[in-house]
Amino acid sequence: MKPAPFDLCIAETVEDVTGALASHGETARVIAGGQSLMAMLNMRLTEPDLLIDISRIPGLDRITVDQTGVTVGATVRQAELAAHAEAREAVPLLAEALSHVGHIQTRNRGTVCGSLAHADPSAELPLMLVLLGGSVTLASAQGRRTVAAEDFLTGTLTTSRRPDEMIVSAHFPRPPAGAKTAFREIARRHGDFAIVSLACIAQGRNLRLAVGGVADAPVAVDLADVSAETLPAQLNALAWRLRGYDDIHATARYRREMIRRLGLDMIMEAMA
Ligand SMILES: Cc1cc2nc3c(=O)[nH]c(=O)nc-3n(C[C@H](O)[C@H](O)[C@H](O)COP(=O)(O)OP(=O)(O)OC[C@H]3O[C@@H](n4cnc5c(N)ncnc54)[C@H](O)[C@@H]3O)c2cc1C
Repeated sequence: MKPAPFDLCIAETVEDVTGALASHGETARVIAGGQSLMAMLNMRLTEPDLLIDISRIPGLDRITVDQTGVTVGATVRQAELAAHAEAREAVPLLAEALSHVGHIQTRNRGTVCGSLAHADPSAELPLMLVLLGGSVTLASAQGRRTVAAEDFLTGTLTTSRRPDEMIVSAHFPRPPAGAKTAFREIARRHGDFAIVSLACIAQGRNLRLAVGGVADAPVAVDLADVSAETLPAQLNALAWRLRGYDDIHATARYRREMIRRLGLDMIMEAMA
């Protein structure tokens, strides 16, 4: 199938985008790397009247690394972030997770913020944003606002972005100094969306753990006083809390079991 007809706006400024979104509302869509949106257009899962191409807007292609973390502009490609030496040093987990996001070809086109906007519950970048306690900054004709990860990612392919807003940047905070981090995922093939993905930040016996692919959005929990003895019960309780879901890739029961097994393996590595 081919997309339904649409008009194309090549935006030159953020104001071009917010102006077009304000006047068209739900019938307009931003296009960034097109790696998810083109498939949805071709299958006519979405039929916007207007596509707003943001890829040529100056200044949105910046990666900024400072004491607080890594800030990524709306047109930064996933491959650019993965290759950015300072960002890799500041938040090593990002590059590790990015190596599991699709394939070289999709990472060369797909943007970091596009993945956050798309909000697939199995996607690795939303998982990172939730684990690290990050945020996105949204712009509209009314101004800008910054929204914390867990308030932004509200469900499957659903965010708290209003139809008249675009993401202008995302911020991934540095993990605390001295903390250890780890990432695991299980997918049918490398580069496929994860069936279950997990990431953690360990500081002594305190742990922040994030799980993707089990609930309808990535979930992070803080666990205190973790040890090899307490962990199986803590992971089991989390698995039952998130419940999981059945789809063509795996059952809810399998997803819960991956939290227990992959989670234990990953956390033991991080705490070693
Ligand atoms: C073969 C294949 C395998 C893949 N595997 C994985 C994988 O394993 N893990 C994974 O996480 N992803 C995977 N993806 C998805 C990929 O990471 C996409 O690049 C990403 O989900 C969307 O980024 P994009 O820049 O291409 O966004 P687009 O496709 O351009 O847009 C996606 C959605 O986000 C909206 N959007 C984009 N940017 C903005 C913005 N700045 N403001 C507001 N809305 C915006 C669009 O309107 C659209 O609704 C895969 C894709 C393909 C084709």
